[in-house]
Amino acid sequence: MQTDLFGVAVPSEPPSQQQLAAQYRVLLNQYNQEYYELDAPSVPDAEYDRIFRALQAIEATHPEWQTPDSPTLRVGGAALAVFSQVQHAVPMLSLNNGFEDTDVLAFVKRTEEGLQSELGQIPPIEYAADLKFDGLAISLLYRDGLLVQAATRGDGSVGEDVTENIRTIRTIPLRLRGNGIPALLEVRGEVLLFKEDFIRLNNRQRAQELKEFANPRNAAAGSLRQLDPKITAQRNLRFFAYGVGQGDLIPTVQSHTALLGWYSELGIPVCKEQTVAHNAAELLDFYRAIEKTREQLPYEIDGVVYKVNAFDQQRQLGFVARAPRFAMAHKFPAQEQLTTVQDIEVQVGRTGAITPVARLAPVQVGGVTVTNATLHNEDEIRRKDIWIGDVVIVRRAGDVIPEVVASVPTQRPVNARRFSMPTVCPHCGSAIIKLEDEAIARCSGGWITCPAQRKGGLWHFASRKAMCIDGLGEQLLDQMVDKQLIVTAADLYKLGLVNLAALDRMADKSATNIVAAIAASKKTTLARFIYALGIRHVGETTAKDLARFFGDIHPLMEATEEQLLQVDEVGPVVAKSLLAFFADPLNREVVEQLLAAGVHWPQSEQTAEALRFAGKTFVLTGTLPTLSREQAAALIEQAGGKVQSSVSKKTTMVVAGADAGSKLLKAQELGVNVIAEQDLLTMLGM
Ligand code: NAD
Repeated sequence: MQTDLFGVAVPSEPPSQQQLAAQYRVLLNQYNQEYYELDAPSVPDAEYDRIFRALQAIEATHPEWQTPDSPTLRVGGAALAVFSQVQHAVPMLSLNNGFEDTDVLAFVKRTEEGLQSELGQIPPIEYAADLKFDGLAISLLYRDGLLVQAATRGDGSVGEDVTENIRTIRTIPLRLRGNGIPALLEVRGEVLLFKEDFIRLNNRQRAQELKEFANPRNAAAGSLRQLDPKITAQRNLRFFAYGVGQGDLIPTVQSHTALLGWYSELGIPVCKEQTVAHNAAELLDFYRAIEKTREQLPYEIDGVVYKVNAFDQQRQLGFVARAPRFAMAHKFPAQEQLTTVQDIEVQVGRTGAITPVARLAPVQVGGVTVTNATLHNEDEIRRKDIWIGDVVIVRRAGDVIPEVVASVPTQRPVNARRFSMPTVCPHCGSAIIKLEDEAIARCSGGWITCPAQRKGGLWHFASRKAMCIDGLGEQLLDQMVDKQLIVTAADLYKLGLVNLAALDRMADKSATNIVAAIAASKKTTLARFIYALGIRHVGETTAKDLARFFGDIHPLMEATEEQLLQVDEVGPVVAKSLLAFFADPLNREVVEQLLAAGVHWPQSEQTAEALRFAGKTFVLTGTLPTLSREQAAALIEQAGGKVQSSVSKKTTMVVAGADAGSKLLKAQELGVNVIAEQDLLTMLGM
């Protein structure tokens, strides 16, 4: 801030549009360097895109301010000098982006206008729609069918020679196959890292105390642009082709789809998720369908790409400065955004676990407004270097809960402060303790002393996968605890209409419904009951295993450590937790009170041996013709089998329905038996 003659601060003028444009250029150049040259962006793509669009808007109204080196006119970043340089015979460009349906309508309109005859007639136009892979562009040069050179996009004219590194990618053919191999062919496509390989790579980086990659795109770029091809070889990079540079195409290849078909014959990997469309509505249908299944794909995409299919029409439309006119990238809503951490508070869970939670300035991410994100524990806050007041990157992908990915220390305000874990529980004042071998700090109060633990335990007890008490939400339970209507879960079964009607906003009708729901929950299963008790480390699956093994609650309560260890899924930690839980007379008393209140389950007549699926694991994938996933899982579990979410060598069978995706593929790769719903029903004698 400037000062006047007397040293008093004078608010500075807001920057003019021209100054803003200059600032944007500096920022975008910095972000480009971090992203393209260092493979380590400091801000999310959405932030980059926001500034890019703002600069474009200023330049559109004032073309005279556009400098010849403006980032809006350039592609990518400079090739690193440590690699030999490759001059691209045909420039490698970027794509124009759009986010809204109206951008697609505008693209189609522009295309029609660009192709219309002098008489104003619009010829038939076909569009090819592909996925927009989130990796990095690569050019592969084949001479007489042999891979002779591979280059990154670089600044579009000059790229980096990464031939030796590319040779380590197993899916890229070193020699093309089939008849009619062209003398020269420059294949263009994307190098990418599958999600599971990305997770594996970051785990390895963390274990070796090396810097983790922000996302699969940067990890792919960082892995390919290595001086030592041995490192690239360890990273399991993949490749999909989507275009052509220079080369001799065979006469039948006159369109994008024909090109991809030909590539397949030559042994070049192309992605099967593609379609042909004839108008904006069909393009949008493809976009929506892909958006729905996006999370199931084994790799990341950030949108879809539409291209005019016929090469002669592509040529007619031509290029603008940094992108072809015949194509557009239709991007999905950003999954990462910038926001600020307004505060860090702690939450106390049902087992006393203290979780720091970031209170965030509201921000739209992945289609919803995010205001909070768990920070898990103190170590995590330190590892991610998150301060109160920081600008942070928030991510929300699919249905996954939002997370704070990292802070942006370069934008840290002067008044930002570090978080320190409170020493006492904010709810009951008991000491917060942290055992040496645990990352998590806990309130030492226990559920009798600490209302937060009590509330947490009760929410869990009433939740859908536990006793499933309809209508008994968090707010209602909180009120009941605060007004001391209930202390333990057993007290729920003593509640009458009179108690409930006294609660805020409780109409007679809802009170009646809740009393009925509580009564209905008495009829349950042993597995649900065990899970509902909220014993540490006993999740749904373990509860099912315990129920199957012990058949009733009392044998479980009396079980010894040796007996517990015989149960699938139960290791020393779970066994100790069970022993400690049932050693506490208060817990035993609550169980007895619940039984006395009438909680019951069908006595199991089957022993593990009599169950036909005992010891067998199943994975369900795709849409089954008649059963829902839950129904199929319930049938398998009733017969003693287990249902898992991912396929491994140990999977006994995969039950596959329509549109089965990567799990089916994995099963085929591993040679796991794949059956249909009807086979499952037959095995169950149904
Ligand atoms: P882009 O990634 O938006 O689109 C062009 C690229 O898409 C092509 O070069 C190609 O590599 C790729 N692509 C994937 N699938 C394709 C397909 N089926 N057909 C054709 N191309 C396909 O553009 P860009 O110029 O590479 O990068 C610009 C974007 O990168 C920005 O919009 C921003 O999101 C991100 N970026 C972020 C930062 C940052 O600091 N976070 C910095 C620079 C760029």
